[in-house]
Amino acid sequence: MKTTTKRTLKRTLSWKPHRYVWGDIYCSPACGYGCTREAFEQAQEGARLLVEELGPGFKPRVWENLGWHYEAVSLDKTMKVSPSIDRIKDEIVGYTAYFGEPGPGGRWAASDKTWRKAIRKVLEEAELEAASVRGLLESYRKTQRGRR
Ligand SMILES: [Zn+2]
Repeated sequence: MKTTTKRTLKRTLSWKPHRYVWGDIYCSPACGYGCTREAFEQAQEGARLLVEELGPGFKPRVWENLGWHYEAVSLDKTMKVSPSIDRIKDEIVGYTAYFGEPGPGGRWAASDKTWRKAIRKVLEEAELEAASVRGLLESYRKTQRGRR
């Protein structure tokens, strides 16, 4: 059997945004979308305002991936709130709250017109599931009394 040496062609592209000499581009090689400095600054300002509204239990997070995005993250990182932005009208049309283990996304997600309603909805969904799981556990344990 002939063995071949496989070389990895995958190169790691940097996520460090560059400011290019032409135009108002502020974009990293890994993104390559051509994000603008203005969009970056808008995301930073949006994050600052959102955290201001949500209160001291949240911190801003701004990231780039085919555009600049932002969210507010709870200090324990279990809740994330991000706006839905109408890019044509350039306005916030709603919010999505993600709840679950720290990391990308969330185990539960809910959207609504206001961040307050989105958070309430996502917590209600999590509570419903927690109650359902508690019910299953109780049911099973009732049938297993005396068993080790
Ligand atoms: Zn970019």
